[in-house]
Amino acid sequence: MNKILYFDNHSTTPCDPRVVEAMVPYLSEVYGNAASSSHQFGWDAREAVEQARIQIAALIGAQEKEIIFTSGATESNNLAIKGVANYFARNKGKVGHIITPVTEHKAVLDSCHALERDGWEVTWLEVDKDGLISLESLKDALREDTAVVSVMYANNEIGVIQPIAQIGAIVKAFRTEHKTGTLFHCDAVQALGRVPIDVRASNIDLLSISGHKMYGPKGIGALFVRRGRPRIRLEALIDGGGHERGMRSGTLPVHQIVGLGKAAELAKEDVDTGAIEKVRALRNRLWDGLKANLDELYINGSWEHRLPNNLNVSFAYVEGEAMMMAIKTIACSSGSACTSASLEPSYVLRALGVDVELAHTSIRFGLGRFNTEEEVDWAINLIVGKVLQLRDMSPLYEMVKAGIDLKSIEWDAH
Ligand SMILES: *Cc1c(COP(=O)(O)O)cnc(C)c1O
Repeated sequence: MNKILYFDNHSTTPCDPRVVEAMVPYLSEVYGNAASSSHQFGWDAREAVEQARIQIAALIGAQEKEIIFTSGATESNNLAIKGVANYFARNKGKVGHIITPVTEHKAVLDSCHALERDGWEVTWLEVDKDGLISLESLKDALREDTAVVSVMYANNEIGVIQPIAQIGAIVKAFRTEHKTGTLFHCDAVQALGRVPIDVRASNIDLLSISGHKMYGPKGIGALFVRRGRPRIRLEALIDGGGHERGMRSGTLPVHQIVGLGKAAELAKEDVDTGAIEKVRALRNRLWDGLKANLDELYINGSWEHRLPNNLNVSFAYVEGEAMMMAIKTIACSSGSACTSASLEPSYVLRALGVDVELAHTSIRFGLGRFNTEEEVDWAINLIVGKVLQLRDMSPLYEMVKAGIDLKSIEWDAH
């Protein structure tokens, strides 16, 4: 195969050609400002924006008035968490408390860290070896001054799906019983178009959406903000013309919004028609093919509670970066993040208790709408060959194969 295979769909996805096609007229012919209410150009733009709002709302079981456009999920997460917290602080004249798991996306973690610097208290929920939070520790962590609980739908590294409906029910029951304003925010970026999502059934108050993780354009996202009682009040991060119900000012990028709307429609189709099962079958084919030909493979995170497109696996005795180089013709991600000084294992894998050595050998594959069986078979062949080659050069693997228990060895510290 003389191209690079794209198995990194958790990082970003290609824009679906149908999305591109829908966007193009809004870059040229329909160029009005959606806020211009005095002429046809503005009305046409406005209509396209409202159509997209309907498409996005339909994907998550919301009403179109509940969709606020942003520049992406990083902004949506910031707006949800800081917006709720800052309104709370201004309204009550004091800071409060936030709950979030340690395995969240950086956009959530860093928003919480920023609030910590302002005096907010954050309860960082641990996860078990499967990557799941404990509902009991969530219940224990809730306080009268908890402004927001932020838990992602599915993790971007290990694809693990949290018990979202149960979390929503717990937060709502707490809020009702203790008459607090505690809200549930969910970063659903990775789950959209992969699993059915219903904000009402799951009692989600705020939900973050990104275009480019679901075959839409980059630089556009949305935040679902539930309407109705108890009323959600957010302090805007960006002030200006009072667009988006005052929550997010700025001229609406109509072409991007049209693209996000189309992407949402197609994402809903993937889930409703079962087309996503084809992606699951490809993911399973990849795993089965690797498992059949290699030993010492370890899945990271729950297999049962996992996105259909995710495979995160440690190839013991094969260093992740060496492996990435060896399989350059497959675009995927390693479980290590290059920081300036050192090669750190992923904080998500560490939170699961994955051994540092093993974390360094992990690779994340993200399958997608445009992958094929032929590509998967070609990938299996390449990966198996390279892993066998690399392990041939590993003295540790040789020792394990010779029946030596590595843990029993006293290594010389020098
Ligand atoms: C990619 C991603 C984000 C950030 O989305 P952008 O639209 O790129 O800002 C947030 N959360 C998760 C889980 C993601 O995977």
